[in-house]
Amino acid sequence: MLSAEIIAVGSELLTPTKADTNSLWLTEKLNEIGIEVKLKTVVGDDEARLEETIKDALRRSDVVISTGGLGPTEDDVTRQVSARAVGKELIFREDVLAEISERFRQIKREMPEINKRQAFVIDSAEVLSNPNGSAPGMLFETDGKFFVVLPGPPRELKPMFENYILPKLREKAGEIFVKRKIIRVAGMGESAVDEAIAPIYLQYQNPQTTILFNRSEIEIHLAAQAETESEADRLLEEVAEKIADRLGIAVFTISDQTMEQVIGNLLTEENKTLSIAESCTGGLISERITEVAGASRYFIEGVIAYANEAKIRALNVPKELIEAHGAVSGEVAEAMAKGVRERAKTDFGISVTGVAGPGGGTAEKPVGLVFIGFSNAAETKSIKMNLPGDRYLIRWRASQAALDFLRRKMLKNLTTE
Ligand code: ATP
Repeated sequence: MLSAEIIAVGSELLTPTKADTNSLWLTEKLNEIGIEVKLKTVVGDDEARLEETIKDALRRSDVVISTGGLGPTEDDVTRQVSARAVGKELIFREDVLAEISERFRQIKREMPEINKRQAFVIDSAEVLSNPNGSAPGMLFETDGKFFVVLPGPPRELKPMFENYILPKLREKAGEIFVKRKIIRVAGMGESAVDEAIAPIYLQYQNPQTTILFNRSEIEIHLAAQAETESEADRLLEEVAEKIADRLGIAVFTISDQTMEQVIGNLLTEENKTLSIAESCTGGLISERITEVAGASRYFIEGVIAYANEAKIRALNVPKELIEAHGAVSGEVAEAMAKGVRERAKTDFGISVTGVAGPGGGTAEKPVGLVFIGFSNAAETKSIKMNLPGDRYLIRWRASQAALDFLRRKMLKNLTTE
């Protein structure tokens, strides 16, 4: 597999206000053709540092791509530094100047004298015309390595890369297809997931498996490479199926869906409706549910009952229940879920009540203690969770746990039917 390295040139990219997005885009394109990006560097307009970086990059990587610093002004140093780094002269090319002047004619502007500098290119490099700007790009091959020098503005760099460089790199890399799959898991910790699936993924070098933690979800990323797209898909399917089998109901998607999309699909398929009563999540679950287009088919009502009086008034939670067990309790979570379901006349009601922190925790009811309620015509149940994290994470995890409780209940009902 070919390795690549990207160098983003420009002092402004080292300030907090400007992000290097070119390398993200380039990485995506390179990965698609099976070239792995091993290193990215951001270098200011500093000749010595840039020269060192280019030399190092060409020593260790098969493909080196630089972006930026090709402008006509003094501080645009990429042209001369890249020539120096590969031990070549910059040569003036009449044909390149003609192209730059032609572009100025087209946009009906006088060409400033300093733009002539952009007609200097690395001796023996292939020059890449730039229909969207004045700076031409360059492709220089040295010892079987590719050194690509591109302008900084995304609208100039992207067509240049796609039209000239990508086909050449594809040829160099050989026909390799890289396909990815994301499996998402709820209700299991990262190490438990790893322990369960390591015996599977360790048997495979291809696809590569990475386990990531993303907010309240564990994501398993699979990346397969093959000579054909269908072979890459087949490799992914094989491992994804084994992992999904091993983790069972904890897997909520093998096709990159969100939890709220999965819930939406289940409710739609079963033609069921949902209502939600929220205390500490303050509407977050309803917000997530309604992010999915078409949620009106199954989502009827969300109630944010934050204060005790609201739980009593809007959800019919008995006052005595709150007095006896406290608002953060399984009993109240159940009464909230049942209350909202009856009020909205839905098939399912779910609820959340808990201590999101940072204040308000006690020894008996610490920060992160959350009860999730579920109610349908057949049963009303609750589960207790101790969620880690700050206020933001506790609320997010509580919303995920509530949706996951509903998902598991729906799936269990489906399998026993
Ligand atoms: P030109 O002189 O043709 O405009 P250049 O090659 O000199 O191009 P720079 O002057 O380095 O490019 O950058 C021009 C603009 O391109 C920057 O102001 C910035 O908006 C954008 N740009 C440069 N590098 C990047 C990058 N790595 N990611 C995203 N945008 C970038």
